[in-house]
Amino acid sequence: MTEDLRENEVAVAAGAPIDAALRFIGVIRTPFTSRDLCPRQGRLDGPECRLVLNAPWSAGLAGLDRYAFADVLYWLHESRRDLVLQSPRSDGVVRGVFSLRSPVRPNPIGLSKVAIVGIEGAEVIVRGLDCLDGTPLIDLKPDSCAYTVAAPDKPADRAP
Ligand code: SAM
Repeated sequence: MTEDLRENEVAVAAGAPIDAALRFIGVIRTPFTSRDLCPRQGRLDGPECRLVLNAPWSAGLAGLDRYAFADVLYWLHESRRDLVLQSPRSDGVVRGVFSLRSPVRPNPIGLSKVAIVGIEGAEVIVRGLDCLDGTPLIDLKPDSCAYTVAAPDKPADRAP
């Protein structure tokens, strides 16, 4: 996969990705049918998207309606995973993968903060995503800002 590298980009021999196994909990439905049509980052006033949970995980949505925002983790399944130095199309400056929010990374996990519009059975309607239609869903958590980060000398507020 060297043919689609930009100038000064570096791919590594990363080996087989076998360190851990994930269980996808569902699929994300968005209006974005190609990577070029996806926004670089989602916007809270972006289009409605749906997190469609597989059985039996829909029971895990109980209580989510108490929150206005959530963090969504997803698997950027069309990404290559071997670029350690990358040259973003936006400016062409070569940078290390861990200084970028590029979808191309050793473990192509996407993270977006979304606004929860509603919950219909096994589906959560949200705004704020930037991923392709059909992107696998890894996890969904209430917005971390709903919890107070404690000072070092105080106990942390705990999620229920
Ligand atoms: N918001 C996430 C983050 O910060 O972790 C992802 C940001 S990444 C820059 C978003 C881009 O990834 C989109 O603009 C699109 O080009 C690409 N993308 C979206 N869905 C993808 C998928 N399923 N596989 C590979 N690339 C994807």
